[in-house]
Amino acid sequence: MKFGGTSVGSIESLLNLRDIVKAEPEPVVVVVSAMGGFTNQLLAMCEQAQQRDISCLDTLEAARKRHHDAIDGVVIESMREEVHATIDRFIDDSLKPYYLALATNPHMPVKEIERVCDAIVAHGEILSSAIVAGMFDGGVPHLSLNFMRTVPDGAGRVLEWEETGRLVKEEFAAIDGGVHVAQGFISRDKATGDVTNLGRGGSDYTAAILATLLDAEALEIWTDVDGFMTADPRTHPDATVIPQMTYAQAQEMCDAGAKVIYPPTIAPVAMKHIPVWVKNTFNPAAPGTVIID
Ligand code: ASP
Ligand code: MG
Repeated sequence: MKFGGTSVGSIESLLNLRDIVKAEPEPVVVVVSAMGGFTNQLLAMCEQAQQRDISCLDTLEAARKRHHDAIDGVVIESMREEVHATIDRFIDDSLKPYYLALATNPHMPVKEIERVCDAIVAHGEILSSAIVAGMFDGGVPHLSLNFMRTVPDGAGRVLEWEETGRLVKEEFAAIDGGVHVAQGFISRDKATGDVTNLGRGGSDYTAAILATLLDAEALEIWTDVDGFMTADPRTHPDATVIPQMTYAQAQEMCDAGAKVIYPPTIAPVAMKHIPVWVKNTFNPAAPGTVIID
């Protein structure tokens, strides 16, 4: 089950997530995005810091408060103190030093700037996953940085399936029940160990990769719309939800710019014939769209 930014973005939506996950037969792996808007903020703060604009630290404090408020609203009481401490530790011992390094090193090589910004942007999912895991027994997330591996590919990077497959199976081998939370989006370079990611919107892809490697019964993408629509509802008020489509149809719609799921998500689950459900965290009773052969 993958929950996107809006689905983990407020106390109300996090409580919906909890109820949706608890209604599911276990074991279940829950993949989360960063709290809505936070990835953009982390990147905007990278730009500011490079301009020596230290006001990015104010934005960081606002984000700290947003995460702490969410903890007070949703995390089980016995876990709260620990999750608060986790958030503070990542902000004070990791994010702040990274931003200060960017702001105070005018001669930082471009490669190093990219490396630091990749490390920074990973914190969205690291923080949100600590909160989501804190809503369930077990309390702490699985660290995707320990099992998602990428290799360079032209100007970008791609998933390294072999090593990732081995590490994912190792990480989740012993599981026979429970709720297991992991970060979407984030990964490490196979050779250097540097923090990398699967591209903007990549949490869907993380969930598809895990579903494929773990032979999941289904992949559920929980978002803020009722499913794939026949047309853009902003310009076509009579648009309706498509109840069922094939992998090929879904791939075509994603490639054509339907923002419902990240395009690379479809291929791995299609290969294994794993059904994909697109469902609305804010309207869980709606049937959604199912993608099958
Ligand atoms: N948080 C990342 C982004 O905003 C990944 C994701 O949400 O899928 O792009
Ligand atoms: Mg998304």
